[in-house]
Amino acid sequence: LSPQAENVLDEIEERGVDFLRLQFTDILGTPKNVSIPAEQAEKAFEEGIYFDGSSINGFVRIQESDMRLEPDPSTFAVLPWRNSEKVTSARLICDVHDTTTGEPFTGDPRLVLQDAIDRASEMGYTVNVAPEPEFFLFEEDENGNATTTTHDSGGYFDLAPKDLAQDVRGDIIYGLQEMGFEVEASHHEVAEGQHEINFTYDDALSTADNVVTFRSVVRAIAAEHDLHATFMPKPIPRINGSGMHTHISLFTDDGDNAFHDGSDEFDLSDTAKQFLAGVLEHAPALAAVTNPTVNSYKRLVPGYEAPVYVAWSDVNRSALIRKPAARVPAASRIEARFPDPSCNPYLGFAALIHAGLDGIENDLDCPDPVRENIYEFDEEKREEYGIETLPSNLGEAVDALEADEVVMDALGDHISEKFVEAKRQEFEEYLVEVSEWEIDRYLEKF
Ligand code: GLU
Ligand code: MG
Ligand code: MG
Repeated sequence: LSPQAENVLDEIEERGVDFLRLQFTDILGTPKNVSIPAEQAEKAFEEGIYFDGSSINGFVRIQESDMRLEPDPSTFAVLPWRNSEKVTSARLICDVHDTTTGEPFTGDPRLVLQDAIDRASEMGYTVNVAPEPEFFLFEEDENGNATTTTHDSGGYFDLAPKDLAQDVRGDIIYGLQEMGFEVEASHHEVAEGQHEINFTYDDALSTADNVVTFRSVVRAIAAEHDLHATFMPKPIPRINGSGMHTHISLFTDDGDNAFHDGSDEFDLSDTAKQFLAGVLEHAPALAAVTNPTVNSYKRLVPGYEAPVYVAWSDVNRSALIRKPAARVPAASRIEARFPDPSCNPYLGFAALIHAGLDGIENDLDCPDPVRENIYEFDEEKREEYGIETLPSNLGEAVDALEADEVVMDALGDHISEKFVEAKRQEFEEYLVEVSEWEIDRYLEKF
């Protein structure tokens, strides 16, 4: 066993862990896990754990269903909640292997991100990522089901008594800290019942692991308060939706921030600008991955601090990418404002990284920043500035994805095919539905 795995075995012993949950995600980013008694940990590290991949969304066909999970010892964390029998559980995030070839499984989203990281590393870079996942807290009804009644009517940075969720956020933060998160800040967001908790940046893989963990901790602890936490991008029309702004920077092997150049007007290096240009260039296709639900496109409309237009800015929040002010060179980064928290973070980050690296490799030209409020531009002005729009629905986004070789390659053959298939089906199912809005509008009129 590796020294890291040995350490995990010691910790299991010391902390009295009863069960281990071996986790991975399907291509949609839904966490899956198999639970094993702690005594099986050594065997799990030595041989992996076998499971039936044919039952997992988008993994394999039925005739090739045996998969093996290989736990990554660096992801060991004791879960901060106990079930009714007071059992202590810990989780380990796993890589998925194909038992027929013995190779890492190309349908594993974690592998897709690892490939993006490897490409960056061959170019001499480490990728750092920090996400800002926003979420809503809703009341539960008497049967414990989620409603869309917001838990409070607070707004941006409100304090108690308007912000009723201080205790809930506090408990979530304790839970996250117990799992090793370094929480930097938390606040009530703009919309009623909406919140944000920020944690420290990390390498892209750890951050993607963290997003998956974050979503489950938030939901589990909210449930302990009889609340339903949701990362659905736009649960309520006509107020702000929930984004997952994604801050990205590249560091060189010497530990310098490759995105920083103090002599530039925006403190951005050429590398940063090429990366930024790559993300802008591939934005319509990226959206299918970073904004992968029908509902995602209800958020990407003018007026709610979410981007619609493909442009960047150092000042305004209507742009797709913002250059946040940085106090120190190490903090120079770009903020992609379009991703939302319904995405699979492994695939989302992988696609963003490949798009950016593509910009560097092809020495793409970065357009000028747009400092005006783009929401207020008419079509003519957008044309004059050469500003494209994001896809307006999931169907258009999937079309853009299929037409974009760089983003399709980022996902790999297996996942791109399954992803496109799943998302086309999702959009088609949506198209045949008749909505509340239509009933309200037409039932009595015609
Ligand atoms: N909730 C906004 C969004 O949908 C972002 C608000 C903010 O700037 O934090 O992206
Ligand atoms: Mg926010
Ligand atoms: Mg932000």
